[in-house]
Amino acid sequence: MDKIILTGDRPTGRLHVGHYAGSIRRRVELQNSGTFAKIFIMIADAQALTDNFENPQKVRENIIEVALDYLSCGLDPAKSNLLIQSQIPELTELTFFYSNLVTVSRLQRNPTVKSEIQQRNFEASIPVGFFTYPISQAADITAFKATTVPVGEDQLPMIEQTREIVRKFNSIYGETLVEPEVLLPENEACLRLPGTDGKQKMSKSLGNCIYLADPEEEVKQKIMSMYTDPQHLRISDPGHLEGNCVFTYLDAFSKPEHFAEYLPEYQGLDELKAHYQRGGLGDVKIKKFLNQVLQEELAPIRKKRAEYEKDIPAVYEILRKGSEIAREEAARTLAEVKRAMKIDYFENEEWIRSQCEKYDRA
Ligand code: ATP
Ligand code: MG
Repeated sequence: MDKIILTGDRPTGRLHVGHYAGSIRRRVELQNSGTFAKIFIMIADAQALTDNFENPQKVRENIIEVALDYLSCGLDPAKSNLLIQSQIPELTELTFFYSNLVTVSRLQRNPTVKSEIQQRNFEASIPVGFFTYPISQAADITAFKATTVPVGEDQLPMIEQTREIVRKFNSIYGETLVEPEVLLPENEACLRLPGTDGKQKMSKSLGNCIYLADPEEEVKQKIMSMYTDPQHLRISDPGHLEGNCVFTYLDAFSKPEHFAEYLPEYQGLDELKAHYQRGGLGDVKIKKFLNQVLQEELAPIRKKRAEYEKDIPAVYEILRKGSEIAREEAARTLAEVKRAMKIDYFENEEWIRSQCEKYDRA
């Protein structure tokens, strides 16, 4: 069976280093590995509207921002289809049919949706579209027969929900849909990169992000004011690593080469951590190092973005083409789904013939 990737992001803001560590960096590697027959990268605008329905302008503006971030990180339209979810109406049809296979109590158990409902103050009154977005995500994944979904850890419950829908669909209507596998980041710090406030995951909706497109000076400022260890007051105090997001970011981004170049007095991250825990290593020094590490990663992305920003119509054209190809693919799956569900009345000559025979006999 061909290996196929589907993954994506909500156009609720520019992409940040959490997206990069959790998903995009991996996508680019997978794209360039040549092991995937097809790759679909979705800008999930319809999903973004489920909790931003009053703000369509925000969603519209961020489509181009996300597309620019994709291209500047190295997603290549010659190898990956970049598409806009709302332009594939087949996805809404699939969502409608799959919703028969999911119970309200099953949706209520989804831990990611639960915490998102809290964050958005939806407890008293949850929009139906938002509550059911895991079903539409199952449609997104299965429409392209995706085998592999590279995402951050918060997406695990969505992929599990998709797998359940696939199993249920196939057991009722016959083998039609493909059960996808999740592909989480190998590096533990990248599973759910915390925000610069050290509290929750870095998230567009929480305003605790370092964006891929942030100017150099802004990245530096954000790093220098990052949450570390509130008990580490004097340099000589022993420092703690738990919840200290400077070290989490170093876990996610630093490589041995960075130590050789910027901190040759340390063998590597373990030695730096040990020194911090012993005491005698100041926050400013580790933050300056993190800044060097991140700037090195972000500088080429920023540069590429500036190039793409010069030709916005070309970026829209990439999205239009990618959406067209995606639509053909989704239409094929939808036809199979309808055949399996016995709602292919006009396409199924055999069925019509069998009905003729029934009435002939009568
Ligand atoms: P929103 O707040 O609008 O939900 P978000 O920042 O959570 O935005 P999404 O578009 O929901 O971003 O997520 C896109 C992808 O990025 C998903 O695969 C998700 O797992 C991953 N991702 C998002 N934030 C992080 C993070 N802090 N660490 C690791 N992966 C992340
Ligand atoms: Mg999210």
